[in-house]
Amino acid sequence: MDEAVFMTEKSSNRQLQIKLVSLRKAAPLLFGCVLMLNPGLRTPNFRSASPAGSANVNDMDSSVKPGDDFYRYANGGWMARNAIPAGQQRYDTRAILAASTRERVRNLIQDAATEHAAKGSVTQKVGDYYASYMDVGVIDSKGMAPLSDEQVKIAAIDNKTALSAYLGSTLNREVDGLITNADHVFGLWVNQGFEDADHNLPHLWQGGLGLPSRDNYLDTSAAGVELRSKYQAHIAAVLKLAGFADAETRAASVLSLETRMAAAFAPDSDAADVFKQNNSWKRRDFEAKAPGMDWDAYFQSAGLAKQADFVVWQPSAFTGVSALVASEGIDAWKDYLRFHLVEQYANALPEVVRAEYFAFNGVALTGASQPPERSEVAINATNGALGLAVGQLYAQRYFPPEAKAKAEAMVRDLVAAYRVRIPNLTWMSPQTKEKALAKLSALEVGVGYPDTWIDYSTLDIVRGDALGNMRRAEGFYHQRDLAKLNQPVQPIEWPLNVQVPGGVIMFSPNAEYFSAGILQPPYFDWQGDTAANYGSAGAGMAHEITHSFDELGNIYDARGRLGKWWTDEDSAQFHQQAEKLATQLSTYCPQRDLCVNGKQVLGESVNDLAGLLVAHDAYVLSLRGKTDVVIGGMSGEQRFFLAYAQRWREIQTDAALRKKITSDSHLPGEYRSDAVRNVDAWYKAFNVQPGDRLYIKPEDRVRVW
Ligand SMILES: [Zn+2]
Repeated sequence: MDEAVFMTEKSSNRQLQIKLVSLRKAAPLLFGCVLMLNPGLRTPNFRSASPAGSANVNDMDSSVKPGDDFYRYANGGWMARNAIPAGQQRYDTRAILAASTRERVRNLIQDAATEHAAKGSVTQKVGDYYASYMDVGVIDSKGMAPLSDEQVKIAAIDNKTALSAYLGSTLNREVDGLITNADHVFGLWVNQGFEDADHNLPHLWQGGLGLPSRDNYLDTSAAGVELRSKYQAHIAAVLKLAGFADAETRAASVLSLETRMAAAFAPDSDAADVFKQNNSWKRRDFEAKAPGMDWDAYFQSAGLAKQADFVVWQPSAFTGVSALVASEGIDAWKDYLRFHLVEQYANALPEVVRAEYFAFNGVALTGASQPPERSEVAINATNGALGLAVGQLYAQRYFPPEAKAKAEAMVRDLVAAYRVRIPNLTWMSPQTKEKALAKLSALEVGVGYPDTWIDYSTLDIVRGDALGNMRRAEGFYHQRDLAKLNQPVQPIEWPLNVQVPGGVIMFSPNAEYFSAGILQPPYFDWQGDTAANYGSAGAGMAHEITHSFDELGNIYDARGRLGKWWTDEDSAQFHQQAEKLATQLSTYCPQRDLCVNGKQVLGESVNDLAGLLVAHDAYVLSLRGKTDVVIGGMSGEQRFFLAYAQRWREIQTDAALRKKITSDSHLPGEYRSDAVRNVDAWYKAFNVQPGDRLYIKPEDRVRVW
């Protein structure tokens, strides 16, 4: 579950790239596990799939007997031919997709920049946003002037009401269900209520810390103390660059203020428990529960003056920060705002500011030695601000309506397979099955790209105004968010960019999304082999869909409302059956002295098996009674399982493998591939017999789903 990294590209003005580390742990109970993400690989090493789809014969090692080592039978050729890219720990399917997508997105955006398309078109906006970011000459020549109006506003703050109003003006969308700490005081996410599926509500988040985690402020170790001292020096440097005298003293008071804010913040670990975040506050509760802030002024300038109901995710932070508005001197708050203003827009400010930003956020926080290329920063910024505009260009070039139709047909087959499988589950009670089926019927699955694109016509993007573009984009999304408060919950806006290779489960509302970026070879080939597509992407999507019905999804109902629908008996029965799989997995020992901890990977492995079974059912359904064709000497059944095993190919360092075994909730790829051992059809497809190394007696095969 690497949601945090994946989600960065979404937030409109986040200075990603070197701020990845600052993204807090995910809130997995609102969004589930995310399929793929961009691991930051830079070496493409990409070959397109064979005409047979993902089941690439050259990638196999036919000297290995499938029943002895299916993973090497499927991947031996590929593993021998490829090497881990320099500086990386691992090379795998997600890296292949990430490299391919990165190349495509770079070309699209750079083409848009040279095209000089008609003013107002999506291409113009994307191209000019990027070109403005690339034009460091213009950026440098403007100096700090683009922020002067904002600095004047901060300077004019002379009482708590004015301070509250200013803080309210910074409230914007920079959070979603995946992030536990916003950049500003505070963060806003507009989504349906935890118990109210009929209305969109403002979900408010703790936020405003400059260091990645609240724990960074409270950590008393030598490393913690050193990091804070570097941070304080960074604050001082930024304030000096912004023209403020006595920057060291100001920096000390900013750090002191943030440290007291952090003390009131909910710990990151709370993010794992969504029930802790389900706090309904009426408008008047803010004065009663969080005195100090002038909340009228705050909500007025935030555009929420008329809002009666809120969801406050971390009440302690609201109480604590609001008290600090009352107790802390105005000057400390003003310096705090001055620093964060520059920090937020650093990448669209002169070189001295960019360098200082990288020295802390890149070198000190992430250990980076080289700043990213400017084009990379500019591409990320463009994806961040105009994500679904870039996505529109991406779909036009790489994911035609036929591809979407193919993927949608596969989803329909997957859903049909669940509809048959759920009534046959032996661990789920009849009443619970009814609820599961209702949830399945209500599940919305988006593939490729949204049916309706964001209308960017009111967002003006001007070539040569990098910082102005950023700010207008922020305002654009904020106005959209406010408008959503008066709109029905459906349709849901896509929570991920089309061009990001990934998928998102959203339990609330009840929906899942799989981007065009992930639906590409070798994972999915709309012009390729159906059997391979179902074995690869189909099984992956079914893994994710299963999360809507497993121990993550069982606390959200068909409409995405919080409320457990499994009974205790369902839970007990499920665990009893899953136990058998944990025992099986614990026999895997990828390193001489290190075996898999079956319990640690159980939840994800149950879903791997479920995904494989459901995808196989769906593949059979897709034949509509016809016999499958033989391609390259292989039957459809064989190509299905082969593609499944090929999806899990990876080469990695021993250290990376070791880390995965000890800390990841997913198995190493080889053992994810070995889920086939529990599937009867695999035995038939490859004539696997007793005596073969992977053989399991029929009565010992695990069948949780
Ligand atoms: Zn998962």
